[in-house]
Amino acid sequence: MIKEIQLRVNLIEERKENILSYKAAKQLSIDKSEITAIKVLRKSIDARKKDIIFNYKIAVYINEQIPEKSDYVFEYKDVSKAKEIHIIGFGPAGMYAALRCIELGYKPIVLERGKKVKERRRDLRAINQEHFVNEDSNYCFGEGGAGTYSDGKLYTRSLKRGDVRRIFENLVFHGATDQILVDAHPHIGTNKLPKIIENIRETILKFGGEIHFESRVTNFIIKKNKIQAIEINDQQEMTANSVILATGHSARDIYELLDKKEIALKAKSFAMGVRVEHPQEIIDQIQYSCTGARDELLPAAAYSLVQQVNNRGVYSFCMCPGGFIVPAATANGEIVVNGMSPSRRNNKFANSGIVVELDIDKDFKKYEHLGALKGLQFQKDLEKIAFYAGGRSQTAPAQRLVDFVDGKLSTDLNDCSYQPGLKSAPLHSLLPKIIGSRLRKGFTVFGQKMHGYYTNEANIVGVESRTSSPVNIPRKENLEHTEIIGLYPCGEGGGYAGGIVSAAMDGERCAEAAIANL
Ligand code: FAD
Repeated sequence: MIKEIQLRVNLIEERKENILSYKAAKQLSIDKSEITAIKVLRKSIDARKKDIIFNYKIAVYINEQIPEKSDYVFEYKDVSKAKEIHIIGFGPAGMYAALRCIELGYKPIVLERGKKVKERRRDLRAINQEHFVNEDSNYCFGEGGAGTYSDGKLYTRSLKRGDVRRIFENLVFHGATDQILVDAHPHIGTNKLPKIIENIRETILKFGGEIHFESRVTNFIIKKNKIQAIEINDQQEMTANSVILATGHSARDIYELLDKKEIALKAKSFAMGVRVEHPQEIIDQIQYSCTGARDELLPAAAYSLVQQVNNRGVYSFCMCPGGFIVPAATANGEIVVNGMSPSRRNNKFANSGIVVELDIDKDFKKYEHLGALKGLQFQKDLEKIAFYAGGRSQTAPAQRLVDFVDGKLSTDLNDCSYQPGLKSAPLHSLLPKIIGSRLRKGFTVFGQKMHGYYTNEANIVGVESRTSSPVNIPRKENLEHTEIIGLYPCGEGGGYAGGIVSAAMDGERCAEAAIANL
């Protein structure tokens, strides 16, 4: 017999061996010897009260063994001679599209502008140390996409868009810890992601798929509204009649190419702001109501904040406990910041994007003449302002948090995890009012919600500009582009995902749609 129950375990109990079977036996009024196994289905931490509680959902196996096989089986077939589907971009959307093609018996041919994960590392070092951005290989472009050197948080609000569990099981199949199947806030970590991505590459190649690195798609050859071929690196042409476009939200050249070819695009609302960084200890003390260091059983504390300010949401985005702020620019002449963390989340800083919701119909009047690309241009301009304010390198403009709210240039800055370095800059006057004034109000309210958060021991770093796509590539119900037959806009770049998991789910859906329409 299997019984599913919920258990509450406090910090002292959590230290005890076999605490779960002891409590389960008590709750089910059975003898401990009848319990053959316990499987943790879900684990979360409730730190709202001073007494911190671990909430468990467990399956108790009573006189019964845990089955060895998972409910999810990934059966890949040899597709080397099968019909082809072309996939542009090898981020989460492209990877999962390719895997799904193989499962369904079709051959994925992937074109990726960047390099393999290991080679990509050299280019990341160049950004951090030499302030040089390789426009095809950086924190956003390359094997695994923006998801590789990311935080690897696997939360998603897109539960209705697909089978989240299937995405997690596939990550586990390719080497992720099965802890992600259990944690309420699963996280992989930037140090573990590259190996998983290499394993996914191996599966695709082993079963007959193709992956072409350093192959940037530079044109689409379209006749009678039907895709015929794609051009690679401005030279080679490859015949293709079913193309999944999974190039992510930073592939500005793709939006510009589509716009130039007068292929339908739409401007889309998005959010922009800054990244704030606190010492992790401050966040731990607020969230766990402790003084000094957090208990060793507790992970680096996270937070999630949201506040309406003048009819716009101001909210925390991609919060990285124990993490680093990273330079996520995709071209020289711009500053973009984002965050990541290692699996153990053991760095001494906590960072998070704090962004303001922008309304595409109201906020970009000056850019109206640019049509679908108006939000993109606004984004570009702000990244350029940050570049100049930072001193024309990857050094980022920054300010102490309270100084930002008080409208005062910081005479010095706190230590920071951002490797290329910081330069004190008046972000309060550099950010457009629509963003800056809301952020200033938002931060003071956040300080009231989390006592100790509003402190000059925190820096804000500009700019957090790539939260989601400023452009939508429209598609029909069958997921094909509204005008171009055989083109499937996919993932975050199409405007259909926001994060690793939702991009992966959209990749699978696009593969299924492309195959169904062949
Ligand atoms: P992408 O991952 O952007 O992949 C697009 C791929 O297309 C890239 O590899 C790119 O090189 C390639 N490409 C672009 N143009 C071309 C072209 N013309 N020809 C060929 N190839 C091309 N999300 C989370 O859910 N959790 C997190 O913790 C998290 N942390 C992040 C941290 C950082 C530093 C960054 C940058 C992002 C983070 N994200 C996180 C966001 C997440 O990575 C993205 O939402 C996700 O990767 C989007 O997947 P995608 O496949 O749609 O696009």
